[in-house]
Amino acid sequence: MLNYIIVGQGIAGSVLALELLKEGQDIKVIDNNHFRSSSKIAAGLVHPMSFKRTILSWNAELLSKHSINYYQQKEKELDSSFFEGLTFLRIFGSIEEQNNWFAKQSTPPFNKVLLDFKKDLSTYTLKNNFGVGKVNWSYRLHLPAFLEAVKKRLIQENRLIQEKVDYSKIDHSNDFIKYGNIKARGIIFCEGHQYINNPFLNYIPENSTKGEILKIKVKGLPNYSLSKNCFVLPLKDEEYILGATYDWKDKSYETTEEAKEELLDKFSNISNNNVEVIEQWVGIRPTTMDRKPILGTHPNYKNIHVFNGLGSKGVQFAPFYANRLTQYLMDGESIEKEINLDRFTKKYLL
Ligand SMILES: Cc1cc2nc3c(=O)[nH]c(=O)nc-3n(C[C@H](O)[C@H](O)[C@H](O)COP(=O)(O)OP(=O)(O)OC[C@H]3O[C@@H](n4cnc5c(N)ncnc54)[C@H](O)[C@@H]3O)c2cc1C
Repeated sequence: MLNYIIVGQGIAGSVLALELLKEGQDIKVIDNNHFRSSSKIAAGLVHPMSFKRTILSWNAELLSKHSINYYQQKEKELDSSFFEGLTFLRIFGSIEEQNNWFAKQSTPPFNKVLLDFKKDLSTYTLKNNFGVGKVNWSYRLHLPAFLEAVKKRLIQENRLIQEKVDYSKIDHSNDFIKYGNIKARGIIFCEGHQYINNPFLNYIPENSTKGEILKIKVKGLPNYSLSKNCFVLPLKDEEYILGATYDWKDKSYETTEEAKEELLDKFSNISNNNVEVIEQWVGIRPTTMDRKPILGTHPNYKNIHVFNGLGSKGVQFAPFYANRLTQYLMDGESIEKEINLDRFTKKYLL
């Protein structure tokens, strides 16, 4: 009998699989080839900021440090290259924002994150009248390359089943889980937004956000990552990723003209240069109402577990919280209330 079946090989399922393997667990992962996976299209940015109010995001220092170490380590273990440091510049939108940044720079924890940027940017056609600051702990995970490296390992060890899980075939009537001819001590669902089709978990309130990003070609920008109401990530040969939109109403997987216009309009605050749109991608972020991940065990079925709710920060959240869930499964370490599946149970599970 296996220890665990993991459903989903997005960033959540991939990182969790590696954590459980590290603990010597016998697992299989079932994934329907990244169908509608948001991990497949995510820009992969990791940074510790919430720019609107120039504050650090939730648990930023802990999560940034943990995820940076994690991906650097995994590059070695998986013998693959998918994680790179970024020069990430915040272009100030106003004198207030500039003042706020400089005022915070000398006090902890901001002194570790909000850095000066002294290089001359005048050769580029940037709208940076109020100056720029540099954000420390900024990285990019190339998600397709990371997912592929994990997939390769799973295939080598005969641990990946490429199909769609049919929930009606999950037998949880015994002390173990049976799915077809696979028996396991437990099953862990990591389906991202598609959990809404899962009859065991679709009581969790749905609050996902559709996001669209563009691949653009534009001249005259520096080879740095930029943020000013949107983000711009350099690729190669004057190509960049421009993102991202947040739509709580439309949950379709269609790209829209509105999103394209919104992004191009935001980009016009960074530069007036001509933009050629090369591609447009869409995904749905598994965002929760409180913006926190979801970990734990189904209140009625002790062999059914969940790892989801990574929202717009899957790259930063996945390593730390996959490790928390693993400690819980291995050693029974309790899961904090604020991230525990239990927080939805009383109110939403009838
Ligand atoms: C436009 C956009 C930009 C983003 N940019 C960033 C960014 O820069 N940085 C960042 O950290 N995050 C970013 N995100 C958020 C990030 O994409 C998510 O946090 C993360 O991908 C969620 O991963 P997941 O593994 O939970 O879900 P998913 O990536 O959706 O993976 C779920 C997997 O489960 C599989 N699956 C589902 N149901 C079944 C089933 N029944 N049977 C078999 N397999 C199944 C799917 O095929 C899929 O492979 C972005 C998101 C969007 C939409």
